[in-house]
Amino acid sequence: HARRDDDGAIRATDSDAALARLSAVSKHYLSDPFIKSFVSRPHLQQPRPPLINIGTYVRSEGLDALVDQWLELAQADGTQAQVVSLGAGSDTRFWRIATGPRRDALRAYVELDFAENTIKKAMAIRKSKELSAVLGPPENVTLAGGGTTLHSPIYHLLPADLRLPPSEVLTPLLSTPTPGSSEPLLSPSHPTLLLFECVLVYMAPAASSRLVQWFTGYFESGVLGGLIYEMYGLEDNFGNVMKDNLRARGISLPGVEPFTTFASVQSRFAQYGFVTSHALSLREIRRSYISPAERERISQLEMLDEIEELELVLEHYAISWGVQLPQNKDTLKARW
Ligand code: SAM
Repeated sequence: HARRDDDGAIRATDSDAALARLSAVSKHYLSDPFIKSFVSRPHLQQPRPPLINIGTYVRSEGLDALVDQWLELAQADGTQAQVVSLGAGSDTRFWRIATGPRRDALRAYVELDFAENTIKKAMAIRKSKELSAVLGPPENVTLAGGGTTLHSPIYHLLPADLRLPPSEVLTPLLSTPTPGSSEPLLSPSHPTLLLFECVLVYMAPAASSRLVQWFTGYFESGVLGGLIYEMYGLEDNFGNVMKDNLRARGISLPGVEPFTTFASVQSRFAQYGFVTSHALSLREIRRSYISPAERERISQLEMLDEIEELELVLEHYAISWGVQLPQNKDTLKARW
């Protein structure tokens, strides 16, 4: 069945993401004590080429900075924030936040992915003392749904095919109370950030819009932020090489068609009806937002002679973000 094969290849992209991160950590681009627990036999993994490591580093720094700002703004407003990571895969962000300076800023951190991936992640969490300890006392951590679902006081791991109608998939998962609580899992009155890291590209644009629309409806009188990391501009030679690579692994990219230019990436959140809509390419982030001291540190980690090639690759990836606000909260507009 073609569809199911395709889904298997899509789910497997998570191992790539995890291995790329492990590689960047092993070469000291990034520090992340948690990623090794999500990779089987981490000591046997080969590092990625320098160019990929730098890309992973710039992407991670850019997204971390925006997520951190979101948490900071919530704290400055005297409230706590929520994060919903869609297609979260083996992402370690929750553990990094929960052990870092913004640990008190989170009301909820929700991860969604295919059941085949959440069951693996839940198992990795249960197997690792380091990961489990961050979730809180064991009696407050529950598995459900045949091991595909994990609840803890703040962190929730939930199975969902994000292409299905959100009213069928998300409403029962997110707008109902968690075990032992009378509040909905996702509070509609806490500032909430949607994180789409390398996932919308695997969905048809109509399905992505439907997904975002469900959240804009749910947070109609609240504060909702969106953060997307994605490839774009795939119509040139370089883009064709990338598309061929994915096709060879059985993956077609239904989600990229409308986002062929940087301008279309920049207006993405405006198209979703958000009041702000920004974007930066990884190339621009490396050039203008990574401090000179960090750039110097990074340049000494590995030999890289082809800066032009690096910039060409980084130019094909962008982070875009935007915010939806009720009118009385308009001040946030200037801040994120
Ligand atoms: N966000 C993580 C990161 O950046 O490290 C993982 C990225 S990985 C390239 C893409 C993830 O999106 C995979 O874990 C895949 O299973 C998930 N995904 C793709 N399409 C999905 C869908 N329709 N429903 C749920 N998850 C999906």
